[in-house]
Amino acid sequence: MGVPLDEWIKTIRRHPLKYKFDGLEDGGWHKDVREAAVFSESYMDDYAEKETDYYAKYATTEFSETYADWLRREHGHEWDGKKNINHCADSTVIRALGTDQRAQEWAYWYYEPDWSWEGIRADDPEYLLKEHPPIECWSHAYESGVPVEDVFFLCPSCGNEPTTEEETKDRFYCGLCGASSCLGPGEDIVDFIIALDLSVYPFNSAKHAEWKAKIEARNLVSQ
Ligand SMILES: [Zn+2]
Repeated sequence: MGVPLDEWIKTIRRHPLKYKFDGLEDGGWHKDVREAAVFSESYMDDYAEKETDYYAKYATTEFSETYADWLRREHGHEWDGKKNINHCADSTVIRALGTDQRAQEWAYWYYEPDWSWEGIRADDPEYLLKEHPPIECWSHAYESGVPVEDVFFLCPSCGNEPTTEEETKDRFYCGLCGASSCLGPGEDIVDFIIALDLSVYPFNSAKHAEWKAKIEARNLVSQ
């Protein structure tokens, strides 16, 4: 998207807008990328697969105790050792009854989706935002999404409503909170932006730079 990451992460944190995030579209509209991830079925399926692969890979080492217990319970009937299986070391049980296929089955049994939800919700959202940047933000007034590149600025009054350049040609009106621009004689939307020190095109670096130049030029004239 070409906008400095820090810039829009700051914007997202400052404004409690609902966004749709890249690759998490099926998770719906959320203020927090972590919630979008948790509600995205495709993301969670992927996550579960990675988790279970990890458990299966380390079934015989890191998770040997719970894996051996599961083997005793599920496959103990195949045991033909002299000693009672319950008195044998985990490593002996795993050697006799464990297979890659069973490690995978155990991993599915062991895996708890709750752990993933808790893990994702406790994570620093910045990593997720890098992988899944916002692509649209929700307009309450229009009840539809606005592509983030088209967001001109966010309502300075409620901070909850995006506006586009198209609808803000010579005046500003927030369809959500009703805030509006009061332009004096000879003033235009650029004066409004300067007066309120608004961040213009927070998600579009080319337009952001273009507007920065426009604002600086205006400032020079008025000095
Ligand atoms: Zn507003």
